[in-house]
Amino acid sequence: MKMKKLLVLGLSAVMAAAMLTGCGGSDKKEEKSLTVTEGTLTMATNAYFPPYEYYEESDEIVGIDVEIAQAVADKLGLELKIEDMEFDSIITAVQTGKADMGLAGMTVTEERKQSVNFSDTYATGIQSVIVKEDSAIKSLDDLQGKKIGVQLSTTGDIYASAEPEDGGFGKDNVEQFQKGADAVNTLVAGKIDAVIIDNQPAISFVKSNEGLIILDTEYVQEEYAACISKDNEELLTKVNEALAELKEDGTIQSILDKYIVAE
Ligand code: GLN
Repeated sequence: MKMKKLLVLGLSAVMAAAMLTGCGGSDKKEEKSLTVTEGTLTMATNAYFPPYEYYEESDEIVGIDVEIAQAVADKLGLELKIEDMEFDSIITAVQTGKADMGLAGMTVTEERKQSVNFSDTYATGIQSVIVKEDSAIKSLDDLQGKKIGVQLSTTGDIYASAEPEDGGFGKDNVEQFQKGADAVNTLVAGKIDAVIIDNQPAISFVKSNEGLIILDTEYVQEEYAACISKDNEELLTKVNEALAELKEDGTIQSILDKYIVAE
């Protein structure tokens, strides 16, 4: 029996513990309701996506999403805990309660909405194309038939892998990598012709690698939001309330400005 996710915000630990004992067995330890009741807000992310989430020397995960999640957690009186995982595990982690929410520069898509709820959006993204400085590829049209690197299961992957009549370049022309940085390294090594990835990570990868440029084109525009289990409507409401306050008082904008320097 799948235990119905408890709406736990605002419940005392004692009440929640009693409810948990009432409806679940010992194998329910990972229910997200339990982590939230323990005063922890667990965020699933993939910490190789600068400037949204990345490791600083100190082994600490920092970035826009981390600071926004921290500000939301503070508003909810919860302690933020970060679980770093592959990007394509985040939605499952949220669905199974391993994490309370996913923040990963994650684009809101109709398909993902079948699996999870999305909060109100807090940032926008653009899919960008990175090529070598001396590349013959100057526009999206030049990409047809070329080898394109993407990060597995990202929207860049989904769009690029679509057939040309649907605006993509065809699966056979797309190579998937677990991390954006691996795709970029393969481009630097000359084994692929381009990388399609979100614009801010693209800027960061181009800065940290010699000889790369971003095409002056916007492949797809997107909106980023936190994903939350469909079984936890209350957390969704609370996160949206917190986000609204943080937008209103300028906190979100100042976090974005701290990491995204106007060109
Ligand atoms: N915005 C893209 C997506 O949601 C990429 C996110 C990421 O790689 N962290 O698919």
